[in-house]
Amino acid sequence: MRDYDGTEYSEVESSHDFAAVPDSFQRLWTPHRLAYIETGQQPETEACPFCIAPTLSDEKALIVARGVHAYVLLNLYPYNSGHLLICPYRHVATYDEATVEEVAEIGSLTQTAMRVLTEVSHAHGYNIGMNQGRIAGAGIAEHLHQHVVPRWALDSNFFPIIAGTKAVPRLLGEVRDDIAAGWPK
Ligand SMILES: [Zn+2]
Repeated sequence: MRDYDGTEYSEVESSHDFAAVPDSFQRLWTPHRLAYIETGQQPETEACPFCIAPTLSDEKALIVARGVHAYVLLNLYPYNSGHLLICPYRHVATYDEATVEEVAEIGSLTQTAMRVLTEVSHAHGYNIGMNQGRIAGAGIAEHLHQHVVPRWALDSNFFPIIAGTKAVPRLLGEVRDDIAAGWPK
């Protein structure tokens, strides 16, 4: 399967298969895919998950904040705990198609996301960016989204390289609750 960025990822769920890796990792994708599955459509096919998400409850869609022109949600396939996506409500593919208002709000939501993640999860740094077009790695190329990926000093290890998977030690629902609670009202 592929994530939002088109990166192949393994569906390996059990850490028992990995030598010398403790069993404490929790990476439970399946329950959170319910947000998409319950709509009766799959994100890989015709339905656009970034158009569907705002029609669901914040908890179901893993939305942490809603603005006027854009909203913020947790990536279902995070590179790190707290990996956020900032999307315009409008179904536009590329940054140059966004209106001045959308660009401004995507920018301000990105700033707020950084501040909240620094406050809530004490991130040491960030990767921020947009993949424009499938050739550039956008998994959902038809709906613009900005990645905000918090980074910690020791967050990269052998695990993604050896196991073809990534340990994300917290459940997405818990992370959403924390970020949403920290978001300025
Ligand atoms: Zn869309």
